[in-house]
Amino acid sequence: MPTVALRFTFKPNEKINHLLDACGQMTQQAVKWALDNRKTSTHTIVKALYPTFREQFPKLHSCWAQKATRTAAAIVHAFQRRQRKRRRKGEGEKEGDKGSERPRIKKVWVYVDKSTFRWEWDGEYLTVRIRVLARDKAPVVLRFRPHHKYRRYVEAWARGECDWGEPTLSRSRLIIPLKFPDLSPYAPRTLIGVDSNERSLDVFIEAGGECKLDTAYVPLVNAEHDKRIQRGCRGKHNPKAKAKIQRKHGALRRQKTEAFWHAVALRLIWMALSCGGALVVEDLKGLKGRIRGKPKRMRRRLLNQWSIRRFLRLLKDKAEVYGVPMIEVNPAYTSQTCPVCGESLRGREELVCRCGLRMNRHAVAARNIARRGKKQLPLEGTKGSLGESRKLFVRRQSLSAGRGSWVLLVALPLPLFGAVRREAQATA
Ligand SMILES: [Zn+2]
Repeated sequence: MPTVALRFTFKPNEKINHLLDACGQMTQQAVKWALDNRKTSTHTIVKALYPTFREQFPKLHSCWAQKATRTAAAIVHAFQRRQRKRRRKGEGEKEGDKGSERPRIKKVWVYVDKSTFRWEWDGEYLTVRIRVLARDKAPVVLRFRPHHKYRRYVEAWARGECDWGEPTLSRSRLIIPLKFPDLSPYAPRTLIGVDSNERSLDVFIEAGGECKLDTAYVPLVNAEHDKRIQRGCRGKHNPKAKAKIQRKHGALRRQKTEAFWHAVALRLIWMALSCGGALVVEDLKGLKGRIRGKPKRMRRRLLNQWSIRRFLRLLKDKAEVYGVPMIEVNPAYTSQTCPVCGESLRGREELVCRCGLRMNRHAVAARNIARRGKKQLPLEGTKGSLGESRKLFVRRQSLSAGRGSWVLLVALPLPLFGAVRREAQATA
């Protein structure tokens, strides 16, 4: 179930500031109590502290005490999770690190109870009313005019197409999580084998057709940032400084490749929807552990594969959203077996078989992957319909890709971004 968080910003409001002052105090007390007594369930904390809170803030709607406690529980849980993670990573903490003993609440925020929260959508403005006091005659009114990208979500919400979770409120922000249900996958009419390679995705559609998606952008970005890391680390001996540079470039590299993989994934989803096929992909498991301590060239190769694994994850998420069936198969020997007679083949670029087959090895792999997927048919739980999936795709993508031009999105060459595009053009 994909979740979208709608974030709205508003001008500081006196009533909300008062409310958050009160909630902040309650949250702080609840966090302190939870850590002192080693109890972290909302229910237990509320039971212990509710009378005190009512005494302190008798005018507030009683929900706020409850929600401030829930906020505190969430803060404590997140804090404990961070601590566990740090411990698992090894003794990375320094002695006397005060910050790790207690969570600090930097920005006050609180969950909003649904019973104190009313919203209305008139096609242009989203009006939110939040009751602060018990029997509040004058609730806080916030009016938002959603950005066009948000509008479709708000409209879907108003139509009742999605669930919504508890909003969170801070001094100038309101965040409303929307949860959209997944479509059930449709029964596939055909299979689409996708073979991932260093510089391309090779696609074979069983019903007829094959194509190659050029993904050379990703190794280009990886190489570029490798180069920059090297350049940045030159002459530096402090491991911390080196790590900082690596972190920075790691993040940049991820951002760039992610945006690219999103576009590729969308295109594959569209392909599957247009021919009613199931996507068959390689099941690449246990890669990250193999990266460490490998020679540099090997590492780059594996890193690229790691990127592909993230892409497959992304593709899977999208497939779930749109109800496209997806099959994972073992990729072993897929580029060394003849897709016609099953003979094992050798060769670097072109494979030749005794049965007369002559084909590029990537194309062979895509065919074999599709074939392996066929063995897993029929799929379970394919109750959805192709029509519904297509409708959803068109509705979402036409809006996100700019008013009905989604056909262009899938027909154009894959997008390249910024400096690497120029580099790619120069080498092409
Ligand atoms: Zn053969």
